[in-house]
Amino acid sequence: MLEFSEAIPPCSRCGGKLMMNGVAPQTDRHGQPIRLELCYSCDTGNVERPAAGLFLQFFANGGGQDPERLQEAGHLLKAWVEECMAAHGWYSMDLPPDRP
Ligand SMILES: [Zn+2]
Repeated sequence: MLEFSEAIPPCSRCGGKLMMNGVAPQTDRHGQPIRLELCYSCDTGNVERPAAGLFLQFFANGGGQDPERLQEAGHLLKAWVEECMAAHGWYSMDLPPDRP
């Protein structure tokens, strides 16, 4: 499980305001907790983080306030977490049902 806190620290990459922040229970190869960061400045249009870009676009389009887009939010959140974790060598064992 991920932990999300009320107080969001600044982005570790640019020092700016984060859209979303979490800490994974797994650690990186140095034994440090893995921070999951969603940052408008760093992740918008970042070709190395396509899932983060799509998640930001979802919020920019008002998806965060639309209850009918809850399922979409779930898929985007999962893809973003998987993308963050994959950068540290962690992969999900389950495959989403919409993929072969
Ligand atoms: Zn940033």
